[in-house]
Amino acid sequence: MSGQKLPSLFVSHGSPMLAVDTTQPAHAFFKQLGAGIPRPQAILVISAHWDTPATRVTGVQNPDTIHDFYGFPEPLYALRYAAPGDHQLAGEIAGLLQPAAQVDPIRGLDHGAWVPLLLMYPRADIPVLQLSLQTALGTGHHLRTGQALAPLRERGVLIIGSGGATHNLREYFHPSGGYSAYAQFSDWLHTALTQGDREALLDYRQRAPEAARNHPTEEHFLPLFVAMGAGGARVKRLHHSFDRTLCMDAYAFED
Ligand code: ZN
Repeated sequence: MSGQKLPSLFVSHGSPMLAVDTTQPAHAFFKQLGAGIPRPQAILVISAHWDTPATRVTGVQNPDTIHDFYGFPEPLYALRYAAPGDHQLAGEIAGLLQPAAQVDPIRGLDHGAWVPLLLMYPRADIPVLQLSLQTALGTGHHLRTGQALAPLRERGVLIIGSGGATHNLREYFHPSGGYSAYAQFSDWLHTALTQGDREALLDYRQRAPEAARNHPTEEHFLPLFVAMGAGGARVKRLHHSFDRTLCMDAYAFED
């Protein structure tokens, strides 16, 4: 598939139950997502669940499936996603960043990466790498990281930011004042993205309605900025649904 430029994606991975809960609209969405885009040569995931002081990229040739969640039903812990890595590509990706990322010789795939991929590409036959977040460095850093990764799209690498459009676990069962604060944030996000209002998005903590409630911590929102920086200017919402306080929206950034 030479010459075909892939979009970058931002996806909301929700709860690990997404992997097995066929009643969730987002489960059905992920199952058809892979068929809707050109088949990638490799996949690079920026997941909310890998946060390091300096940027790292996985260099493992056969990454483990990390079950980084607690108290969920047993069948979830038996799931494996046995996609290969790509050590050479890891080195190339590391060199795109300034300063260069470190290649991590141990780290496997966390559930922010493998849960969506299990549904998108169940054959696990496309190499998968992960790149870490630096939550403390905020939105601008992650946008610049994405911009540095953009050339990978021309080489058939699918860049996926995997987090959550909203992410408040504390209020999951009992949202004070109902779920409307979550709907308002996702509406704001959709408007800002489709209008290409990067300034507002970068300053979302101040400008979005109840930003701190929708994202008590920032790690599930920051993968959006990597996807936005890496992708094209045309923004398309691919999916819209809620799992209580977790907005499951997904976006493509196309040319
Ligand atoms: Zn998560």
